Amino acid sequence: MSLVSPAVNDKNRVIPPELNVPPRLLLGPGPSNANPRVLQALAMSPIGHLDPYFLQLMNEVQTLLRYAWQTDNPMTIPISGTGSAAMEATLANIVEPGDVVLVGIMGYFGYRLVDMAGRYGADVRKLVKPWGRVFSLEELRQGLETHRPKVLAIVHAETSTGACQPLEGLGALCREFDCLLLVDTVTSLGGVPLFLDSWGVDLSYSCSQKGLGCPPGLGPFTMSPRAVEKLKNRSTKVANWYLDVSLLSQYWGQDRVYHHTAPVNMNYALREALRILAQEGLEASWNRHLTNAKLLWEGLNDLGLVCHVHEDYRLPTLTTVRIPEGVDGKAISRQLLTEYNIEIGNGLGELAGQVWRIGLMGYNSRPENVLLFLSALKRVLN
Ligand code: PLP
Repeated sequence: MSLVSPAVNDKNRVIPPELNVPPRLLLGPGPSNANPRVLQALAMSPIGHLDPYFLQLMNEVQTLLRYAWQTDNPMTIPISGTGSAAMEATLANIVEPGDVVLVGIMGYFGYRLVDMAGRYGADVRKLVKPWGRVFSLEELRQGLETHRPKVLAIVHAETSTGACQPLEGLGALCREFDCLLLVDTVTSLGGVPLFLDSWGVDLSYSCSQKGLGCPPGLGPFTMSPRAVEKLKNRSTKVANWYLDVSLLSQYWGQDRVYHHTAPVNMNYALREALRILAQEGLEASWNRHLTNAKLLWEGLNDLGLVCHVHEDYRLPTLTTVRIPEGVDGKAISRQLLTEYNIEIGNGLGELAGQVWRIGLMGYNSRPENVLLFLSALKRVLN
């Protein structure tokens, strides 16, 4: 019997034009533009993910992530994937079916925590705030008293609203109720003060593409010894092979056992981004983000625009500004993109159609970007 191979179908054999990415200024909710030094690191030749040079680089990335988060957690690694992968890693490892997980929701990403925790079998309870507001410590205490959860999960920097949830005192409160504290720091890492150990945060995750000025692709993840204890005492297997920290720690710890092929170049990039942050220093970076945000808020005010969030808990990394009556918000953001190459974000979820979202994160948090944006916005609004 002769085997005749089928003829190659060329239907999908398209040859697109050469890549020609438009020179956008990314002032939306993320990604933000990567620092050129980070892009140079990204372009270097990959080496083996078990090469001694790469193993040393992994140690450096871990140490620098601990600096950025102000934690000494040994289990601090970049998860291969975006922020959502690291978000899922926190829940996948800590939640056992039936565990009560209380989520403080004040915007879109709180609901994502609810969705993910539910998928791992948690008995999810919700505390809900209007979009743009934050919880008081007393409200969270009442939530803990009522629900007695194993985990309290909350977003520090809610990218959908521009509000910054105060965290001081929350870790102590969680210890009083023998509960772990899980905090989303996707839009705060590098740009907003964070002291994970002093604040008693047990689990946190972030992303590479915002305050760290790196392309998207890695999700920093950290877990306190208390959280590791809960992982060790699980009676059920972690229900996600790729994100199982007990397996990942054999690669990121002393053993260096293959788990999955690390995205080598993304780790070069993250190392460079973290090296830049360490060179600048955390306080200087936090101050820079606040100073440039204030310049933006002043300029928006001069244009007669109103910020959605009260200044007391407004994020320096992401500002929501109310779309004036009668203005087509999407048309304005489209015009900024097509005429000025400036990307800003439209409202998300409950705030869709009501606000624009303007990000000043990492490498992009610079006064010249603020002034350029304000002058372009003034033109398109007139
Ligand atoms: N959490 C928050 C607060 C975010 O802003 C985002 C993304 O913008 C995520 C989680 C998810 O991160 P990613 O889009 O990198 O998966």
